[in-house]
Amino acid sequence: MKISRHKKVQKNLAFYVNNFKFRQPYQVLIDGTFSFAALQNKFNIQDQLPKYLQAETKLLSTQCVILETEKLGSKVFGAMLIVKQFAVHKCGHEKQPVSGSKCLLSMLGKENPSRYIIATQDRDLQEHVRKVPGVPLIYLHGKAPTLEPPSQASRNRAAELRRAVGINVQQEETLKVLKEKSGLAEESDVRSKKKRKKGGPNPLSCKKKKKSATETATNTNKTGKVRKRKRVKLATHIIEALKPTSMSSSS
Ligand SMILES: [Zn+2]
Repeated sequence: MKISRHKKVQKNLAFYVNNFKFRQPYQVLIDGTFSFAALQNKFNIQDQLPKYLQAETKLLSTQCVILETEKLGSKVFGAMLIVKQFAVHKCGHEKQPVSGSKCLLSMLGKENPSRYIIATQDRDLQEHVRKVPGVPLIYLHGKAPTLEPPSQASRNRAAELRRAVGINVQQEETLKVLKEKSGLAEESDVRSKKKRKKGGPNPLSCKKKKKSATETATNTNKTGKVRKRKRVKLATHIIEALKPTSMSSSS
């Protein structure tokens, strides 16, 4: 009965995809407590959270969350900087800011219609979030991000929704098994195919400069094929040369 961590995450995510119409990119609302814990545990939210979910994600904070961390001053200065890295999502409290937890709860409403994922270490907020059906909850367990299995409220609501579609309990059970076996794989396949189209041939645009070099070369040699390979090598070299510079700056 050993299920790998990764499979558990995908299974739990699939629950929200299948029952609550979650779609990528997943919108993750991150509060100050999560950012604080991330900093303490050297968990890079921007790098590691999408990797953990194996999905495209939009990392979001709100004005209220930012203001709250600002108020707490130097103790949470690092967490404030982290929170500020994310896109600021409009929360409706622009004129009258509320606490971070109140703000996030108000954005969920009664049924989380905007399909947010909540990332928080705040136990009290977590408890409230669990009562709202269809809200995935993420927290850090030490260094390890954890997507909590769907809450009772979420499972109850999912069962209700299925009953409304006219599926009886027996069918529900077989459906569960089927989804676990196949449904999940199908969903992610379709999505990855769609996304691959994005990889544009833009790097080729910088080739034009080389034309003068090839012209001089064709005067002496008439082998064009070798030259093509050289161009490819140069392109990867440039990409590799760029990587270490971005890495070294993160010290
Ligand atoms: Zn707010």
